[in-house]
Amino acid sequence: MCIFCQIVEGEIPSYKVYEDEYTLAFLDIAPIADGHVLLIPKHHEQFVEDLPEEIYTALFDSLKGLVNPIQAVFDAPASNIGLNNGPNAGQIIPHVHIHIVPRPKKAGPTLSSSAGRFKPRNKEYFEEIADKIRKEIKR
Ligand code: 5GP
Ligand code: ZN
Repeated sequence: MCIFCQIVEGEIPSYKVYEDEYTLAFLDIAPIADGHVLLIPKHHEQFVEDLPEEIYTALFDSLKGLVNPIQAVFDAPASNIGLNNGPNAGQIIPHVHIHIVPRPKKAGPTLSSSAGRFKPRNKEYFEEIADKIRKEIKR
């Protein structure tokens, strides 16, 4: 089972910010910026074009619902939204996932390179950020 399927099953812990029948969103373990969220379908597929129609629609409905709350928490007027669709495009985890990276007015690194990532991060860091995003989604 892939790492993200194990997160869906609860076998690997994650800092969840949103969940519904078909999708799950949680914090990236090596964020490129504060509030870097990964949105995934619970159904395993490597490539976005192979997702069943209903799940594909649910995934992009969730994306639409997450962008504003995530941006609001970090006072970000914009975000980078990215999907690495296959290993040659930089996909490391072979399970469809959409990166949502809020971009505050004070800009950080703009591309998802390992150089721009900050780590290690402690539990408190992730819990605080996940909690803020969850509260903003409920508003
Ligand atoms: P990709 O390069 O496949 O588009 O991105 C995979 C992302 O998953 C990376 O940003 C990486 O930091 C993140 N990641 C890898 N393993 C884990 C994990 O076990 N938990 C979480 N939350 N994120 C992970
Ligand atoms: Zn999977």
